[in-house]
Amino acid sequence: MKDNKTILIVDDIQSNQDILGSFLKDSYEIKYASNGSNALEISRIDPIPDLILLDIEMPDMSGFEVLNKLKSTQITKNIPVIFVTGHNDIKNEERGLINGAVDYITKPISPIIVKARVKTHITLKNQRDELIFRASHDQLTELYNRHKLVEEGERFFSKSIRHNENLCIAIIDVDHFKNINDTYGHLIGDEVLKSIANILKKCIRTEDIVARYGGEEFIVIFDRCTIKDALRKSEELRMRIHHAKPNDIKVSASFGLTSLKHNSHKNFDHLLKEADDALYKAKEKGRNKVIVYK
Ligand code: GH3
Ligand code: MG
Ligand code: MG
Ligand code: MG
Repeated sequence: MKDNKTILIVDDIQSNQDILGSFLKDSYEIKYASNGSNALEISRIDPIPDLILLDIEMPDMSGFEVLNKLKSTQITKNIPVIFVTGHNDIKNEERGLINGAVDYITKPISPIIVKARVKTHITLKNQRDELIFRASHDQLTELYNRHKLVEEGERFFSKSIRHNENLCIAIIDVDHFKNINDTYGHLIGDEVLKSIANILKKCIRTEDIVARYGGEEFIVIFDRCTIKDALRKSEELRMRIHHAKPNDIKVSASFGLTSLKHNSHKNFDHLLKEADDALYKAKEKGRNKVIVYK
């Protein structure tokens, strides 16, 4: 049965690719590359490989060079690499492992050993990915959690200051959510939160960030967005939440919105405080509203 994991096989000799592919293709999706530059290109294309089997001796670029380039690129640096090579000497093995390969297999290969080692490293990669996901995502909604939000918020803040770009943030708080829990129960309350999270996730651009900030509070970071556009987008989100009726329950949310002023804001926290102030006003003014900080 296929595991839905993708393995990239890199070898300049077609018959070597065929041999490795033949006994892995029943369990994994396989991609092939016959030189280093092609391997680097493919390793950045979705689906990003979960593991790379890398030859050392290749005409354009050695496997060591490919490994170094993979390790110095953000999206490929965590892909485990196993060298599969005819170099049966300890110096090359040392060099490969020191430079970050997870394993080193010499030709002629044993299908059983290759399969077993691949399986081990795919399992380790799965476990690590899962831990990274859990550390940065909220369990109920699978949005970014507060910890990740603050990390991303500070990153966006510095980037926007550095490049003199617009940045807006909205705090969203579900109105009278306690009543929903009290009337329908906590589990239905959870379903409502999940539905609101899905609306937010679906409606923002991929470069924007949405996070669960607390119980029934969410944050959206609108990257490179003017306050006018962020207001229009927030109004759209407010309307969508208002019309969604998850589990047939009428629900609304209030929004506090603010934008980065390059000469007066000190940090991301400062923006959060302003958005929170505006949120407080939205609640005061009757809820189900978007208020911009003034
Ligand atoms: P307001 O319009 O002023 O925001 O009123 P509210 O009732 O939404 O605000 P309040 O802060 O009084 O209540 C928030 C409620 O959200 C209370 C808390 O039990 C509930 N809550 C927080 N986290 C969760 C959760 O994960 N699941 C559920 N079902 N409820 C939660
Ligand atoms: Mg070769
Ligand atoms: Mg609240
Ligand atoms: Mg609330």
